[in-house]
Amino acid sequence: METVRIDLYSDTQTRPSREMREAMAAAEVGDEQRREDPTTNRLQERVCELLGTEAALFLPTGTMANQISFRVHCRPGDEIIMERTAHARNFESGAPAALSGANAEIIEGQAGMFTARQLEAAIRGTDNHFPRSRVVVVEQTANVAGGTIWPLDQIEAVSAVGRRHGLAVHMDGARLFNAVVESNTPASEYAGHFDSLWVDFSKGLGAPVGAALAGSREFIERAWRFKHQFGGAMRQSGVIAAAALYALDHNIDRLADDHENARTLAKGLGAIEGITVEPVATNMVFFDVSGLGMTGEELVERTMEHGLRFSPMGPTRVRAVTHLDVSREQILEAVDIVGRIAAG
Ligand SMILES: *Cc1c(COP(=O)(O)O)cnc(C)c1O
Repeated sequence: METVRIDLYSDTQTRPSREMREAMAAAEVGDEQRREDPTTNRLQERVCELLGTEAALFLPTGTMANQISFRVHCRPGDEIIMERTAHARNFESGAPAALSGANAEIIEGQAGMFTARQLEAAIRGTDNHFPRSRVVVVEQTANVAGGTIWPLDQIEAVSAVGRRHGLAVHMDGARLFNAVVESNTPASEYAGHFDSLWVDFSKGLGAPVGAALAGSREFIERAWRFKHQFGGAMRQSGVIAAAALYALDHNIDRLADDHENARTLAKGLGAIEGITVEPVATNMVFFDVSGLGMTGEELVERTMEHGLRFSPMGPTRVRAVTHLDVSREQILEAVDIVGRIAAG
């Protein structure tokens, strides 16, 4: 494989920094599944402070956080309402059906978001013929839709409808902190509208692994059982929890730099003839290359020859994600590389 110098494939490509590794090496540890790992316990407390929740649970991945939540909320035959592009529907290997016996009901939203009225229309009646509507999922930010931010008032309205109908209101907060930084809204204000939610440490926050699920004490106690059942209970997890704590201390505010870099990239790519750029909300830039007479795959192959990596997200749609291991200079170089390829 070619050497990747500028990796805009995803914000999952971040590597733990030297300082983060030092924090990991120095972590105090114990047996996590006995709830005796002091660093993991500290991380869970810190997450509760940030989100304003009663309890939190450290998990290996965000996928597990989504799936444990569904397992707690659902009985077989229940229905989970999600937007068409939702990660939990498209990129988790069919886990809602496989692990919880749950159906996915799809809302065709706008930029990854739907309205309270659309939710109301998607909720089933109580007739025995119907699946039981049980969970509604909000993805903040909405990844494949463009890294878009659900406005607080829309979340409030969706949550109110969900709760009125007895649904559990769940947030896939893989990039909640991108929304927090960009909208200047505290995480706890978003979190207050959810019965379960989680944040990822391994995306833009730069930790090598981990996510934290949060909610009421009762919800988290039930989640503990499935953490064991799904194989997510760990031992001396303080080593990785320390990286997550480091990320919360040092890497939240700087997400603003990633957003600035995304805007710079979008502006540069948008000026290249044959490329159409979608609006940028946070750290993702989606663009279409059909005007270059290329597929997304072809463009990605060409840029890889220059050590620049994007990810193809459809026949002619390409995604670039900015993160803490990509500098402004590299963003300008990326624009230059694409410009030269476009010019032939
Ligand atoms: C990455 C991602 C997940 C899954 O998180 P992992 O930690 O990779 O398992 C879930 N939802 C969204 C929106 C994501 O971007």
